[in-house]
Amino acid sequence: MKRIASIPEKMKAVVCHGAYDYRYEEVPVPRINEDEVLIKIEACGICAGDVKSYQGAAMFWGGGILPPWNKTPVAAGHEFIGRVAAVGDNAAGKHNLKLGDRAIAEQIVPCQECRFCKNGERWMCEDARIHGHQKAVAEGGMAEYLKYSVNDIVYKVSPELKAEHAAMIEPLSCSVHTVERAKIGFDDVVVIAGMGPIGLCKLQVARLKSPRLLIAVDMKKKRLDAAKKLGADIVLNPQECDVVEEVRRLTKGYGCDIYIHNSGHPSGVLQGLDMLRKHGTFVEFSVFGEETSVDWSVIGDRKELTIYGAHISGGTGYQTAIDFLEKGIVRVDDIVTHVFPMEDWKTAFDIAAKGEDSIKVVLVP
Ligand SMILES: [Zn+2]
Ligand SMILES: [Zn+2]
Repeated sequence: MKRIASIPEKMKAVVCHGAYDYRYEEVPVPRINEDEVLIKIEACGICAGDVKSYQGAAMFWGGGILPPWNKTPVAAGHEFIGRVAAVGDNAAGKHNLKLGDRAIAEQIVPCQECRFCKNGERWMCEDARIHGHQKAVAEGGMAEYLKYSVNDIVYKVSPELKAEHAAMIEPLSCSVHTVERAKIGFDDVVVIAGMGPIGLCKLQVARLKSPRLLIAVDMKKKRLDAAKKLGADIVLNPQECDVVEEVRRLTKGYGCDIYIHNSGHPSGVLQGLDMLRKHGTFVEFSVFGEETSVDWSVIGDRKELTIYGAHISGGTGYQTAIDFLEKGIVRVDDIVTHVFPMEDWKTAFDIAAKGEDSIKVVLVP
């Protein structure tokens, strides 16, 4: 085991105790064994999911057909980046890590035993433990230190990226996976709805597939301005135009070929089903705060649509995201708009929840 000299016994963390009950408090620094890595956190992004968990969404606390997801108390946050502060001998060899290296772990800690893990589909792991949501086994990065355990999937990251930009690796990795699911072709008209941090990443990744027309939809001007700058051919605001009509007008009345949805709002689902052409492809990534009701006839009887779900980063999302950021292929400087010290987490969550002039809000311990 190798460790830096100054690892304290206690640390500060934003701990999730329940809906509307997150606390900035002192907790023990995790202890590691020879298979594990202790990371000193440099930055951790606030995900829309973190805000929805804070606000009590069924996805995290149970409801409808969804079992509860959070196991508390747990330090929040899965969009972390940090440096190796201590590393067990086995872990050092396995991940090729030394003290001071910058390293990220995937948001999911797969069980490595279920049929999905054994089939190379770890992101669908039956016992999916996501950092920041399950106490002890998958603590989060809104803390000074975080442990990567033996089942964590760990990658080295260039020290040259700014920490708050490296915190975008997780959302970018999800974007890579979603765009792969969409199977974009050169002749496609692609609409991406929701230009939050992940939408703006998806836009840039979709651009790399060179579709015929790439259309961004959002209600906020700041986000549409960023979309324009980052590669959208056309930006549409549902508050200013009839988006469905506009997409039909651009496609000789047929509708778009592919609709990628991450707005998280039921209205975005209806809009997509409406604007897709027959035999079009709908890709759903959103985590919703409420249920969506829709007449399913449109999926089968009317349009014979192909519907894909997309969950986190797939098998190759992280390595691709790291490459894209290190090579400057994807830019996040217009996406990371706010950086707060971790103790100001409440203000940061409020600003992220409003999303008025913020896009990605990042916490720094
Ligand atoms: Zn996230
Ligand atoms: Zn598994």
